[in-house]
Amino acid sequence: MTRAQVVRVHGFGGPEVMALETEDLPDPGPGEVRLRHTAVGLNFIDCYHRSGLYPMPLPTGIGLEAAGVIEALGPGVEGLAPGDRVGYCIGPLGAYGDRRNFPAELLMKLPDGVSDEDAASLMLQGLTAWYLLRRTYPVKAGETVLFHAAAGGVGLIACQWAKHLGVRLIGTAGSPEKAELAKAHGAAEVILYREEDVAGRVRELTGGKGVPVVYDSVGKDTWEGSLDSLSVRGLMVTFGNASGPVPAFSPGVLSAKGSLFLTRPTLFHYIGDKAERDAAAAELFDLVARGVIRTNVRQRFALTDVVAAHEALEGRRTVGSTVLLP
Ligand code: NDP
Repeated sequence: MTRAQVVRVHGFGGPEVMALETEDLPDPGPGEVRLRHTAVGLNFIDCYHRSGLYPMPLPTGIGLEAAGVIEALGPGVEGLAPGDRVGYCIGPLGAYGDRRNFPAELLMKLPDGVSDEDAASLMLQGLTAWYLLRRTYPVKAGETVLFHAAAGGVGLIACQWAKHLGVRLIGTAGSPEKAELAKAHGAAEVILYREEDVAGRVRELTGGKGVPVVYDSVGKDTWEGSLDSLSVRGLMVTFGNASGPVPAFSPGVLSAKGSLFLTRPTLFHYIGDKAERDAAAAELFDLVARGVIRTNVRQRFALTDVVAAHEALEGRRTVGSTVLLP
């Protein structure tokens, strides 16, 4: 019997509810492979799963993203072999661990030029930047957009991708150091949203017009300022809750502020289809291979330090991407 180290959550709460446990891992079942993780991606959604903002049946594993090596195939798995380097960023929770069984159909083969750490930092955040900029509101060269938390994991990828597409990205960031980092990755302007009036600055930077789209993952704290930054018939993309969920509101608000559109997208509805997911991943990995998008693993934590990793992420002490190393 194989043994696995896994992080389990037995009750919702702060980072301290996570515990590393050792358990038996059965042989992979039909359609599954057994993976040995080499790097695990830390994503803000993991905090929502841990805190109970996105409730899961308990006890639960945690984590959506990892890179690693196939150790064994279950019955019926084709096109993969032990030793293959693979990664994933959707599927059942449980990436925080050193080994697991996982559905083969959700795996992506990793290109030679992308390290395991880079892959674990890139798939979920990179495919999020992909669907936001290329699908939810497909940006066009010459447009100006507002992207919150521009120095974060998703943010730094979005800055680079927007620049590559000829888009003027106005970012927001929580400190001057973070603002500089976002600029170094392609943001044209960065607003210090803990000090400055976001909508006022956006109006100044757009000749009073506002932007056609706001990508907002901060949620509660930025909601009003985001709506007020939009041009008439602009699109509000609210895709996260780093500061807490957006409070209930009346649809009349959208009318009063300029016949605005609103969407609350999630990655899983954009890459749930395998063909679409593989095409999106190919586009992302190609931009990385060509040096258009630089990966940004800026924090590394041992899996045993998972509590400290969550404290850092929620405490706004990280920039770019973070990986956990089993
Ligand atoms: P980040 O690395 O961007 O970390 C979150 C950042 O949010 C912080 O670094 C901080 O940057 C900013 N922030 C603003 N207010 C707060 C607050 N009160 N508490 C904590 N952080 C705050 O995380 P990720 O790249 O992993 O994810 C970015 C966002 O995108 C998250 O909200 C996540 O849930 C969302 N997301 C949504 C997806 C979807 O499909 N809907 C998919 C992937 C991510 P600063 O200090 O500069 O303000």
